[in-house]
Amino acid sequence: MSNRHQRRAELADFRRKASGALLTYLVSPDDRALDCNPLLRTTLARWRASIAQRRPFCPACRANFANEAEPGAFLFATATVGPTSASVSAFCTNCWHDLPPDAIEREAARVLQQVIPNGRFLDPRARQGDDPAS
Ligand SMILES: [Zn+2]
Repeated sequence: MSNRHQRRAELADFRRKASGALLTYLVSPDDRALDCNPLLRTTLARWRASIAQRRPFCPACRANFANEAEPGAFLFATATVGPTSASVSAFCTNCWHDLPPDAIEREAARVLQQVIPNGRFLDPRARQGDDPAS
């Protein structure tokens, strides 16, 4: 009933805490990074627990995780310094396996724009080719 409202409130809360600097993680469900990052693990557990209620969907193809879609990768965003909350979106297995990396990154950047307006995409995968000296 108030799912949408609740989600907005959480996003607003997150936005406030993030204050511009954003750290992103693009990980598969079995990634070991989740084991050593309690914040991401907790965020993911909450995401899984609320699938039926919130009906999250894949940002690339709109497949709904409450229906047939299976998560192939999770996109987390947290504040760079002292993060106490994280946002999470999931790409479905089809998109994760079929879409080229640049398409995934484009979709991921679009998702992050909704979390942090003008938020920069800091995943190292998106920075390949950048000249650090420039
Ligand atoms: Zn998809």
